[in-house]
Amino acid sequence: MKNDREDIKVLVIDDEDGIREGSERILSRMGCDVYGASRGEEGLEILNSRKPHIVLLDLKMPGLDGMEVMRRIHEQDPNILVIIITGFATVETAIEAMKQGAYDFIPKPFEPDPLRIVVNRAKERILLRLETEKLERERRRNLADLGMEKSRIRTIIESLPNGLVVTNTEGQVVLTNPTFCQLIGMAPNEATGAPFTDYIKDEGLCQLVKDISRGRYVDFEEIPTYEFVLSEDKYFQVKGRPVLGGRMECLGAVISFQDISAMKVLDRLKTEFVAKVSHELRSPLSTIHEQLAMVMKAMTEEETGTDQHLISRAKEKTQGLISTIGDLLDLSKIETGNVCQEAREFRMEELLESVVDFLSTQASAKNQSIELQMPDTPLPTFTMDPLALESIVGNLITNAINYTQEGGEIRVNADQVGDNVRLAVQDNGFGIEAKYLGKIFDRFYRVKNEKTRFITGTGLGLPIVKGLVDSLGGSISVESEPGRGTTFTVLIPIQR
Ligand code: ADP
Repeated sequence: MKNDREDIKVLVIDDEDGIREGSERILSRMGCDVYGASRGEEGLEILNSRKPHIVLLDLKMPGLDGMEVMRRIHEQDPNILVIIITGFATVETAIEAMKQGAYDFIPKPFEPDPLRIVVNRAKERILLRLETEKLERERRRNLADLGMEKSRIRTIIESLPNGLVVTNTEGQVVLTNPTFCQLIGMAPNEATGAPFTDYIKDEGLCQLVKDISRGRYVDFEEIPTYEFVLSEDKYFQVKGRPVLGGRMECLGAVISFQDISAMKVLDRLKTEFVAKVSHELRSPLSTIHEQLAMVMKAMTEEETGTDQHLISRAKEKTQGLISTIGDLLDLSKIETGNVCQEAREFRMEELLESVVDFLSTQASAKNQSIELQMPDTPLPTFTMDPLALESIVGNLITNAINYTQEGGEIRVNADQVGDNVRLAVQDNGFGIEAKYLGKIFDRFYRVKNEKTRFITGTGLGLPIVKGLVDSLGGSISVESEPGRGTTFTVLIPIQR
């Protein structure tokens, strides 16, 4: 029985020619392939060569006894359905044959209909079995495919250069790859089963893994990223994603670890290099600047005009370079963590008033107004580095003045939101196109358009602001609409 599409084959073993021929006729019309044998031995030979599905078997034949034939048939293939053909006198024998494994019996002589009924029943049973066998074969094939797919994925995961951990919803580690085991110095068989917190002790990372595992990031488009130091010179960048089931439910988290130590070393070298070069350039440039100022002062009436214009341009350029160098040095300090260290107590209201007061001359020169809005209830006293805050607010207000037209309006607003102070610097100036909003915090990035072309700057103000805000444990965001204005909002935790 190789496949279910082949016709049902019936073997009729009966020594009565009439029974054989009659059955052959009726069964062929039912679409069966029919073979006949007049004795048991002959029947068993045909059984071997034709592999029938059903055997109609007479119990009383010369030669081999019908019961013995049935026994040998089932010995060869227990799935063959044997239907006993028996005379009225031997119904008991037929019942005995049923007990021995016959599928059914039909008393002879028989009419075509009872034969059709009994063979049809057997046929249906065979088709059902063939269908079940086919489904089973498919299931096995699917399982084999699945097994193959699983081992392929396993191989890919194991050969990944990045460390990989999969957790369940409880935050327990259910899968790791060799890179991760190497990274935490554990044997692969030890590195599953326990909560993630048992493997890496970084608090922020453990919290992130817990949150992702529990489904907090299911609707997030951005991939949560985290950096941590494993040992003195081992830096890692971690990215995590929730693992989603068929109904978008969270099943756990997949966390990848990338070793960024080399990048960090390069970054440090670059910062040190920039700091050194800037430091070396600052003094000679300041000297040139001062000397140009003296030359300009000493110029006589006749020497004014072109010469003075040239010197004045040179003085402006040196001033620009001095600002860039100052900003670069500030950035280096932020990057090496040498800022926000001079903490002292101060009142935010006073600090804001003094910065706004200082910059109002610059705003008046452009006929701009600066309005400072404070909360009704006084803000708590702050204990942190006031210079860092002055620099943040000062940079944002200076930008608002620079990138707002003559007569524009600038608003500085401070209030308390939970455990943070919220500072907002709003202008009704040129605004920033949405496509640049993600770039303006990059070093040296400046938006170039008709309105900003003639405004001088270093492109380092916002990176400095962002660096300082990060150092204070806060966050900064920006909203802007070209032609309508920009609002920068800074959140700083009151207690660090
Ligand atoms: P700089 O002002 O020296 O160019 P920043 O890093 O402070 O550098 O700002 C980067 C860019 O962001 C600016 O060149 C400007 O195009 C844009 N920008 C910053 N603040 C504002 C603002 N308030 N309104 C419009 N554009 C702004």
